[in-house]
Amino acid sequence: MTRTVHVIGAGLAGLACALRLSGEGRRVALYEAARMAGGRCRSYHDPSLDLVIDNGNHLLLSGNGAALDYARRIGAMGELVGPKDCVFDFLDTRNGERWRLRPNASRLPWWIFVADRRVPGSSPGDYLGALGLLRAKRGATIGEAMDCSGLLYERLWGPVLLSALNMDPREASAELAGAVLRETLGAGGAACRPLAPRRGLGAAFIEPALATLAAAGVTPRYGARLRAIEFSGERAVALDFGEERVALGDDDAITLAVPPWTAQELLPEIVAPDDFRGIVNAHFKIAPPPGQPPLIGMIGSLTEWLFAFGDRLSVTISGADRLMDEPRESLAERIWTEVAAATGLPRALPPWQIVKEKRATFAATPAQQRRRPDAATRWRNLFLAGDWTATGLPATIEGAIRSGDRAAALVTRM
Ligand SMILES: Cc1cc2nc3c(=O)[nH]c(=O)nc-3n(C[C@H](O)[C@H](O)[C@H](O)COP(=O)(O)OP(=O)(O)OC[C@H]3O[C@@H](n4cnc5c(N)ncnc54)[C@H](O)[C@@H]3O)c2cc1C
Repeated sequence: MTRTVHVIGAGLAGLACALRLSGEGRRVALYEAARMAGGRCRSYHDPSLDLVIDNGNHLLLSGNGAALDYARRIGAMGELVGPKDCVFDFLDTRNGERWRLRPNASRLPWWIFVADRRVPGSSPGDYLGALGLLRAKRGATIGEAMDCSGLLYERLWGPVLLSALNMDPREASAELAGAVLRETLGAGGAACRPLAPRRGLGAAFIEPALATLAAAGVTPRYGARLRAIEFSGERAVALDFGEERVALGDDDAITLAVPPWTAQELLPEIVAPDDFRGIVNAHFKIAPPPGQPPLIGMIGSLTEWLFAFGDRLSVTISGADRLMDEPRESLAERIWTEVAAATGLPRALPPWQIVKEKRATFAATPAQQRRRPDAATRWRNLFLAGDWTATGLPATIEGAIRSGDRAAALVTRM
């Protein structure tokens, strides 16, 4: 049996891997370069707002089986909240039209035949266009697999695929879009209920995971940045953290759950995604107006998704590379103007924070999809995890957790 498993990186992939292995009674050593766990999925106290905010709003769907299983195992299901049925509110900011998309729970999509459940102005036949994603050839883009124009694309497929893939869908991988579609809408509305963390990402995904690990005797070593891995033949034999060198025992294993650019530095011979896309989040410290839906998809505006929390309104803009150099003040102004108009709140800018994540996800293009490595490497005791490994999904919580689970399964079989 493996002696110690060294898990490098305490993002969701590393945490998922550490939870699986410690749950099986294995000895786990968890190392994290930052001062806190969570990686790209974290909460922190923002001093200028005096609020705990997330680095970015994260949405799960009820069909994200690995993520929900993770939440269940760490006792955090109560932290994920959403409507009991699949409901998505939308607003077309160009003409003020509002609607609720309400796919029925079962796989048979009869909702497309019911006018007030589907997108206004669309007809049932329009929805067949998305079938192209399920039949797409390997390596095809969404633009090649389906018609990316017309009302339904503007009001449904465009915004949904942009947020799922974090890039202009036309250039994105149809294979990845098909995988998302198959596991969500294709599985019926029961798999598409939106779920968001009630008190933030930390309370939902990170703190309960750390508590579960602590109960199993695993405490992350923070500020531990892996600098190099030493190899001998087919095995990794030592970890170099700069000030500390950890020699590996004969049966020890490593799961490298770091971002792709770090993995590539540590293992120059692996091929990994090297093109990324950004996400901008805007947080406004203001109570949402009464009746504000927890989530609205906004069409025709810079604002794409508006989340309402008890103490703030937060906006997500995906594929946001074009905004990375825009001054934060002007972004806050532009976004708030749209949010104020959508909510009826006063035009005066409330306290705000803009969070720009430049490398939020790998670019979900067919070319980058080909660069995603499997969890197993040519070294017998070294495995990869992370949303960028070959999970078959775009960079998501679900993909990150599946990758950690897979690396743990490979360690177990070693
Ligand atoms: C703004 C934003 C919004 C998002 N929205 C959604 C959403 O709505 N739904 C969804 O499903 N997904 C969303 N995602 C994606 C999701 O957050 C990621 O897929 C997931 O968090 C990735 O987890 P990971 O463990 O693979 O990587 P990471 O979170 O990047 O974890 C890697 C960890 O390794 C550590 N590390 C790096 N180098 C070293 C080193 N040398 N030694 C030790 N440790 C190291 C890092 O500090 C980090 O903690 C979003 C991401 C962002 C940024």
